[in-house]
Amino acid sequence: MDLGISGRRAAVAAASKGLGFGVAQALVAEGVRVAVCGRNAETIEAAAARLGSDAVPVVADLSSPDGATGFVSDARDALGGIDIVVANAGGPPPGNFASVTVDQYLTAFELNCRSTIAMCYEAVPAMRAQGWGRVVAITSIAVRQPIPTLILSNTARAGVTGFLKTLAREVAADGVTVNSLLPGLHATERIAALHAGGGDPTAGIPAGAIGDPADFGRVAAFLCSESARYITGTALAVDGGADAALI
Ligand code: NAP
Repeated sequence: MDLGISGRRAAVAAASKGLGFGVAQALVAEGVRVAVCGRNAETIEAAAARLGSDAVPVVADLSSPDGATGFVSDARDALGGIDIVVANAGGPPPGNFASVTVDQYLTAFELNCRSTIAMCYEAVPAMRAQGWGRVVAITSIAVRQPIPTLILSNTARAGVTGFLKTLAREVAADGVTVNSLLPGLHATERIAALHAGGGDPTAGIPAGAIGDPADFGRVAAFLCSESARYITGTALAVDGGADAALI
């Protein structure tokens, strides 16, 4: 299936590895030119090299005040414009009400909510002006079912989901779609670290297996496609059936 996005330009945040890298890989496979970011120059340059000549590495810390804005701005300079933003970042540390301090919520908000908002402020006005744009934010299945051991993630993701839904409706008439993807459990370093204590991570996943970031990336690429132009304001779970809610 031709997604119709060959030649488009994408800023894919937090893409040195994991889900972000999977999305960048899927977009490159569709002929999209990508700028990818991470905090470490060597790591993000190696990731861009693995993606091929259509990928540009950008060093950016999305948790810093100007990091997210600067990433999109650098990506635009490198690619000559931005058609697609994939908003992503590392995840906050685990913890529950008893173990987490009030200040940690602010840190999580900066990384997993404000960074997405900042990237949208930097990219969406030009998308509206050109009459075409795609925003895909990577959040978490915690948006549907809060995870008891991830109170920081649960809180920040709820906030960013409210922002994305509101933005989606505001810009829909300008050819810009805004959607989020809710990963369940996918084979990345973060998930390996969170489940290092043992136990069967596939328990509770009807598909019986952990997800593959490459598959996740292809779902994101579809949301960026021409054919997905009528899908906006959606929060789509990619979780092997783990979410038991009806809708
Ligand atoms: P991961 O494998 O740990 O990769 C995280 C990526 O984010 C790396 O490329 C890392 O690069 C980058 N990064 C981290 N902090 C950053 C910062 N401050 N500025 C810029 N880049 C930063 O994580 P993942 O599993 O792909 O998860 C991606 C997101 O999805 C996270 O928010 C995670 O909580 C969420 N999520 C994942 C799953 C899952 O199943 N994997 C499930 C639910 C939610 P550098 O370290 O080089 O900077």
